[in-house]
Amino acid sequence: MNCEQFVEQVTAFLDGVMDPASERRFVDHLAECDGCGRYLDQVRATVRTLGDLPPENLPPEARESLLAAFRRTDV
Ligand SMILES: [Zn+2]
Repeated sequence: MNCEQFVEQVTAFLDGVMDPASERRFVDHLAECDGCGRYLDQVRATVRTLGDLPPENLPPEARESLLAAFRRTDV
């Protein structure tokens, strides 16, 4: 799994609707990627604030800036 796939599947993970094989790849990526760990923390904080998952995934522009940040640190 790469960072883009991780970001796409965060809501499925938090919703508990991910299949076991995907969840394992997700957790494996989480263990080796600081950026995605921070991202997951942010999403969890947002969920706590809203009391629920956002109705849709991140707006495309927010996702793009996040992925750009990953690419900058991913040397
Ligand atoms: Zn990542």
